[in-house]
Amino acid sequence: SERGLGTPATRASIIEGLISQEYIARDGRDLLATRRGIELIALLERIGLKTLTSPSLTGEWEYKLKQMEQASLGRESFMDGIKKLTGEIVKRVHDFQEAQQQVELPEMDLDCPCCHAHGLKNTLDAVSCRSCKFSIRKVISGREMADEELKTLIVDGRTGILQGFTSRFGKPFEAGLELNDKCRATLYFPAREEDESAVNEEAVKAASVTVPGMGEHDVMETAKAWKLPTLTAGKENTPVSVARTILGREIPLDQVLKILSEGKSDLMKGFISQRTKRPFDAYLVFNAKLGKIGFEFPPREKKYPARKAAGSGKNAKESKESKGKEGKPKAK
Ligand SMILES: [Zn+2]
Repeated sequence: SERGLGTPATRASIIEGLISQEYIARDGRDLLATRRGIELIALLERIGLKTLTSPSLTGEWEYKLKQMEQASLGRESFMDGIKKLTGEIVKRVHDFQEAQQQVELPEMDLDCPCCHAHGLKNTLDAVSCRSCKFSIRKVISGREMADEELKTLIVDGRTGILQGFTSRFGKPFEAGLELNDKCRATLYFPAREEDESAVNEEAVKAASVTVPGMGEHDVMETAKAWKLPTLTAGKENTPVSVARTILGREIPLDQVLKILSEGKSDLMKGFISQRTKRPFDAYLVFNAKLGKIGFEFPPREKKYPARKAAGSGKNAKESKESKGKEGKPKAK
């Protein structure tokens, strides 16, 4: 209790801070580490600054703050400690960077695609040219490039489609790499065949629906979506459309009509999170201003009963209810 991680009041802002710095991301009701977050922790371990990733460090400083509050630790010695730690962290990062840059691997026996000088400098981080600014990093969007892939990119100017890239928010994707006219490696994406066919897609009237405040509109059925060509919304006045499958779950017509006429679907089960691959339940809601369909989540079931200290009638009731919900599946 003396070496806590700050007060509950500071926790929400710490989590928001981590989200805005993209170390974690919200996925429905979950918080997930992003690629950036995972890489940072891996990097700190390599640098030898594992203490920075440990909650006990925060606990120790919290304890010292408490001692200072109780006047058993002077402000000066507290600040000295902070300065010493900060100095050490900066020094280690600096030394690590220098060491990384100095490690040189055998030269690559290739011509620079930019200035055609022969022989490319090869380090742990990148392949680069000694005569011009040409350089390709070896880790691109979270994916470590194999030597053969780098050679193909340098010699042919382009790779095939490669698997295993990760977006900033931890979502995997596939892409190819090509050298642009400035000799920089850029990603290109597989062509989407769906886009073209969608234009000529046959649409059949499936129903009509009255949208509160927006009149009556036809709902057209196409292979991929429920479309309302006459109901436009948002900045660009685009027609409202609801995909027929959202996150792996089919969206039936009756729910589309309910979303548009009542603003909200029934609770729908079996959406599959793209990131965690776990199923979740949600309502679909219609944002009339944006003309978009969004998720709304049912209130979270508490995994643990509220703390004893809660005591108030409301909390006591909540904890009882959550026990009940938890209990049922087990009883089966
Ligand atoms: Zn060059």
